[in-house]
Amino acid sequence: MQKGNIGVTTENIFPIIKKFLYSDHEIFLRELVSNAVDATQKLKTLSSMGDFKGELGDLTVKVSVDKDTLTISDRGIGLTAEEIDKYINQIAFSGANDFLEKYKNDANAIIGHFGLGFYSAFMVAKRVDIITKSYKEDAQAVKWTCDGSPEYEIENIEKADRGTDIILHMDDDSKEFLEPSRISELLKKYCRFLPVPVAFGKKKEWKDGKQVDTDEDNIINETNPLWTRKPNELKDENYLKFYHDLYPMADDPLFWIHLNVDYPFHLTGILYFPKIKANIDLQKNKIQLYCNQVYVTDSVEGIVPDFLTLLHGVIDSPDIPLNVSRSYLQSDSNVKKISTYISKKVSDRLQAIFKNDRKEFEGKWDDVKIFINYGMLTEEDFYEKASKFALLKDTDAHYYTYDEYRTLVKENQTDKDGNVVYLYANQTDAQYSYIEAAKNKGYNVLLMDGQLDVAMISMLEQKLEKTRFTRVDSDTISRLIVKEENKGANLEAGKQDILASLFRSQLPSVDKVEFNVAAQALGEAENPILITQSEYMRRMKEMANIQAGMNFYGEMPDMFNVVVNTDHKLVKNILDDESKECNESLSPIEAEIASLDKQHDELHEQQKGKKEDEIPAEEKEKLDNVEKKLSELKGRKEAILTEYAAKNKIIRQLIDLALLQNGMLKGEALTKFVRRSIELI
Ligand code: ADP
Repeated sequence: MQKGNIGVTTENIFPIIKKFLYSDHEIFLRELVSNAVDATQKLKTLSSMGDFKGELGDLTVKVSVDKDTLTISDRGIGLTAEEIDKYINQIAFSGANDFLEKYKNDANAIIGHFGLGFYSAFMVAKRVDIITKSYKEDAQAVKWTCDGSPEYEIENIEKADRGTDIILHMDDDSKEFLEPSRISELLKKYCRFLPVPVAFGKKKEWKDGKQVDTDEDNIINETNPLWTRKPNELKDENYLKFYHDLYPMADDPLFWIHLNVDYPFHLTGILYFPKIKANIDLQKNKIQLYCNQVYVTDSVEGIVPDFLTLLHGVIDSPDIPLNVSRSYLQSDSNVKKISTYISKKVSDRLQAIFKNDRKEFEGKWDDVKIFINYGMLTEEDFYEKASKFALLKDTDAHYYTYDEYRTLVKENQTDKDGNVVYLYANQTDAQYSYIEAAKNKGYNVLLMDGQLDVAMISMLEQKLEKTRFTRVDSDTISRLIVKEENKGANLEAGKQDILASLFRSQLPSVDKVEFNVAAQALGEAENPILITQSEYMRRMKEMANIQAGMNFYGEMPDMFNVVVNTDHKLVKNILDDESKECNESLSPIEAEIASLDKQHDELHEQQKGKKEDEIPAEEKEKLDNVEKKLSELKGRKEAILTEYAAKNKIIRQLIDLALLQNGMLKGEALTKFVRRSIELI
């Protein structure tokens, strides 16, 4: 027997392994099983090159547990005593402390950096034995033992078969790794697609009312996973099956993309566009990252473009430096190339589906839209490509590319300033009457009800030349798209004011809502009252909801315009009736107001251009008096109109109907409305 010290410059590698690598203890299993798989594949390679002439036989890697130990056995190349000394005893180890300090929470980084795969066994074991016999002719089998101190023992032993057994004598606080269910779970997580069969126990069957082992190995992995196979050999059902194996609870995916590149880096994989159920949050971390079929992580941020982290599937690349920290990953040029490549592949594939089968693409658009829009919003390059196949959907469920849509609306929806106005709705039910009005005018109305559409609208306004988006309910139909200055004959100003006063006085107070009432000629066919909300204010509030630092807008009340249509018969009736009822009392007041207005203007004229101290006190006082008198008279006029309006049930009824149409009539006001409606009938 020989004794020696493991050659590390720091005496204390084992405490370091144990202490610092506390987070990811379970990966020891991945490391040891991959070593066994590597040793097996090396033997296969030697055999295929004629350097190994013996029988390969059954190459299954076997994992087993008993009371105190976990064993990983392979029939690979094995190790000679010299090789153990070279590969196991001598650990290249410089600048260790600095590195460990930096990456103490990242076991992957440490293990990879030092080639410590094997030593990760000491995260969970108090003693590790290597029992091994090289494939080389007449090799002497050896047993290496180490109890977690830098001392090891190595001795010659008898071993019938070629290959290696790694035996872990588990630490007391790592007994969980002796539970078959825990080991099954870990094998499924890390070893599911390893290229050499891995067995854990035997297949079970029911016999005499209980489960018993059969003779057959329980193979836990699929050695030729779908992504390693040639796309032209695969059918849709293969892709669908693989998807459901990976995500048993998911609906069928929308599309998939088989990635396969050899140069300038190696990468294979399959990405799926999942079908997102409405209102369920998008989930990141559904893509699994493999390195030569060994599972590494499901956190692919930094490796694939952000918007693609919403996809599902697998990526396998030996060229992604997995053993480094995340921040390093992002600056790695290989990783950047990979990210760019994946993004380009995705846009190419989408473009191809769009071109070859537009019907299918349109059919799935509502579901893929969120991924594509996210990409367009976050990646300039992706926007450039996607703007050729991204679609806009109108309220009649017709789909258009950006170019097609512009051609469609350009002629009829260009305003007097040369802006093409894209009308849109985000709720077809609530905005039904506005949509109808727009359609009647020959306009097209888009449906922009997606989660990202607020942001898309802002972006498209910047990207598309001379383009403005306006929601259908943001103004009266005649002013949604202003094609020429309004020259139409309107009601005289005095009458407009009276109408506004009448309706203003009867508006209910709604919490956090402000109304601005105006009278306008909208045409006889239009509703008597229309409630609109300015595009600008509404958008500011919408942005405030998704963006920090815009609270100012979020706090503001909702501002609505109440437009009274002076062309409508009912409104005309109200005005006529008001004249009859109120003229007598209003005429003298109005006459007085008119004369005071005149005085007011004259006084103003006199004082214009003069400095404050050049105006005689007497004149100032006169103006003050006129203003006081005016405001008192206007108050009286308002009171008369309010009194009249309160008696006129039609005014209140019209207001309530308009509120109802906008979903703003609630509670007591709604009950009153119903009661009044019955009375009116
Ligand atoms: P790495 O695998 O990154 O080289 P490890 O510490 O895991 O680092 O292993 C060190 C070396 O020990 C391997 O390169 C390999 O030569 C040898 N080795 C480990 N496990 C086995 C095994 N099961 N069979 C044969 N050789 C092995």
